Amino acid sequence: MTRPARALIDLDALGHNLRRVRQVAPSPRIIAIVKAEAYGHGLARAAGALDEADAFGVASVEEGTRLRDAGCRKPILLLEGFFSPDELEPISRLGLDVVLHHRLQLEWLEAASVPEPVRVWVKVDTGMHRLGFPPGEVADAWGRLGRSPNVAGPVRAMTHLACADDRDDPCTQEQVARFAKTLEGIRAETSIANSAGILAWPQTHGDWVRPGIMLYGVSPFLEGNGVDEGLQPVMTLSTRLIAVNRCHAGDAVGYGATWRCPEAMSIGVAAAGYGDGYPRHLPNGTPVLVNGRRVPLVGRVSMDMITLDLRTQPDARTGDPVVLWGPDLPVEEIARRAGTIAYELLCGVTSRVPKEFASQAEAGQRAKIARTGS
Ligand SMILES: *Cc1c(COP(=O)(O)O)cnc(C)c1O
Repeated sequence: MTRPARALIDLDALGHNLRRVRQVAPSPRIIAIVKAEAYGHGLARAAGALDEADAFGVASVEEGTRLRDAGCRKPILLLEGFFSPDELEPISRLGLDVVLHHRLQLEWLEAASVPEPVRVWVKVDTGMHRLGFPPGEVADAWGRLGRSPNVAGPVRAMTHLACADDRDDPCTQEQVARFAKTLEGIRAETSIANSAGILAWPQTHGDWVRPGIMLYGVSPFLEGNGVDEGLQPVMTLSTRLIAVNRCHAGDAVGYGATWRCPEAMSIGVAAAGYGDGYPRHLPNGTPVLVNGRRVPLVGRVSMDMITLDLRTQPDARTGDPVVLWGPDLPVEEIARRAGTIAYELLCGVTSRVPKEFASQAEAGQRAKIARTGS
């Protein structure tokens, strides 16, 4: 047996979650956000399972290239545009769309010599103060883009929400109003909503929505889980017990001896640690599934291993399955224990963890092809 840590990716759940986006936001077109290796789920396979989307959103030309190489013919949007003028040639050649968020990018685009004009989304800073043209500069940029031969088709407008994950924060409504005011007198297709906007703020739906985290079955909100939003978790991070040890009362477990056995008991050792992306600062008591039942993490997370209190599972033995997060143990819950968000845990699964992809739908399709030859 090889090292048992695995990320199992449920491709059918991706399809379900995309349909959930359409259900919640029936009219806008969907830009499925697959940056950062599809939030750790594997870029090409995830995009393949999301092929009902109208477009894809990525963070780099390299990601766009990989999607094109995988056969993706849909529009692909570079969410931060280009980082230097020399990227414009491959962008044009690959037919990638760009977000333009800064005056300097506008100058680079105007000065470039590109094989084909490039589709542009102007990003407006409506209050997040991260990327985007200040509202006062938008009209001028819009005019210049309209005159540039390097720009394909009608320019589109977008902005990004800073606080949509909090259903009570008035900031979202203010951003929507500032966006509308900035675009007075400009006719353009618009995009505002991330997952939280899609689920909680219908006034942000616009012409295009940009779901990321919800496609992976995870809630974007401060509280609750994806299941509460009608989503299906996509990733199961799993491993196995590689040792079960009998310890005495008072025995210390793990680096720094941060936990001691209160009584004679079994300690399970599972093959997963911070080298796989399971956070080192997860505290004692964090739930882990052994044979599908919760047991507490005890002692420090090591690079390659964790230690578990098996008092409620006296029959657990080496080789038994262990789940760190998945449909029966929400990644949102583990993220809250770690003082972070599920986005970070999913993106943080390291490259040494093999991904296994499962799809009932694809398996059925393959069986049909085998049977009928078509
Ligand atoms: C990452 C990203 C999204 C997706 O956000 P989620 O919260 O994951 O839905 C949408 N728009 C932009 C510009 C992004 O960078």
